[in-house]
Amino acid sequence: MKDLLSLTYDELLDFVTDELCEKRFRADQIFTWLHKRRVKDFSGMTDLSKALRERLSKVALLNYPVIIKKLSSKLDGTVKYLFSMADGERIEAVLMRYNTGLSVCLSSEAGCPMGCAFCASAINGKSRDLTAGEVLSELYMIEDDCGERVSHAVLMGTGEPLDNYDNVISFLRIVTDERGQDMSGRNITLSTCGIVPNIKRLSDEGLPITLALSLHSPIQEEREKIMPIARVYPLPDVIDACRYYFEKTGRRVTMEYSLIKGVNDRDEDIKALSVLLKDFPCHINLIPVNPVKEAVFKAPERQEVIAFQKKVEKYGINVTIRRELGRDIEGSCGQLRNAKA
Ligand code: SAH
Repeated sequence: MKDLLSLTYDELLDFVTDELCEKRFRADQIFTWLHKRRVKDFSGMTDLSKALRERLSKVALLNYPVIIKKLSSKLDGTVKYLFSMADGERIEAVLMRYNTGLSVCLSSEAGCPMGCAFCASAINGKSRDLTAGEVLSELYMIEDDCGERVSHAVLMGTGEPLDNYDNVISFLRIVTDERGQDMSGRNITLSTCGIVPNIKRLSDEGLPITLALSLHSPIQEEREKIMPIARVYPLPDVIDACRYYFEKTGRRVTMEYSLIKGVNDRDEDIKALSVLLKDFPCHINLIPVNPVKEAVFKAPERQEVIAFQKKVEKYGINVTIRRELGRDIEGSCGQLRNAKA
């Protein structure tokens, strides 16, 4: 059975013309039904002949997850969704309200294989990759549920997007397709722990999205202690890959920096940051580390976070502090998990 929601427009066109032996315009019709008009079954595709609809239901499937739980933050209106996928796998995604519009934080894998010490997503490892259609359907189900258009997306839920490269690229191509959701690439951020070869591949895809690197420490041996992937891809290589991304796309890279008291908030970290990022047009996004019950890390006090920001800015580096959303529903960075029932 062909998983239609995971097909880019070009792949759908091949499927329709080569495998179904139908005319090209049928691909446009199906793509529009799926990604613009959002019907969830073939019977709703009323401009296709009944015979074609019946054929489709025999050779293709439409896999939508089910929303099984919804938690709304009383602090800021953030909503965390728990989905059950077709095979029963459970994943989480988050809807956030900004003045610039609605944004979703999407999961790219069920669980995460990367093992970062401070992150809840890593606790049970990875169960499996998500398909392009599954990532997309997190967004579609959320739009359906809230009844509003979502203009921004961040691939910052569970999983490492560059560990599920092909499916994530298909997702990006489909979600930015003007025949469908038509989300602006500029409104999409992909966050990675630093998988060097795939940062380079992404640079060459011609997708105008923002890349965010989970930096978290500018000192190689300290980074290795909290992020196992650092042993595979050392910092100089990771930063080189980010420079390559900037050269190819012209887009500034965001450096995510989860501030952990006593671990990466010291003066020597600031000094090392200034050396590592010298002359690189990037921007640092500070995230006071969020509590994860299995981890022991503590965030510095608010004044300490601001002091850190000021000291780094003295080196001419742009630093912002991430607004914390959904903390009361465990919907903040690093708090999403491969939730079991
Ligand atoms: N695997 C990708 C996508 C996850 S994005 C990546 O590593 O970038 C989630 C962001 O939140 C990452 O920058 C991650 O390192 C950070 N994060 C994880 N746990 C956190 C925590 N407890 N507090 C604050 N940020 C955290």
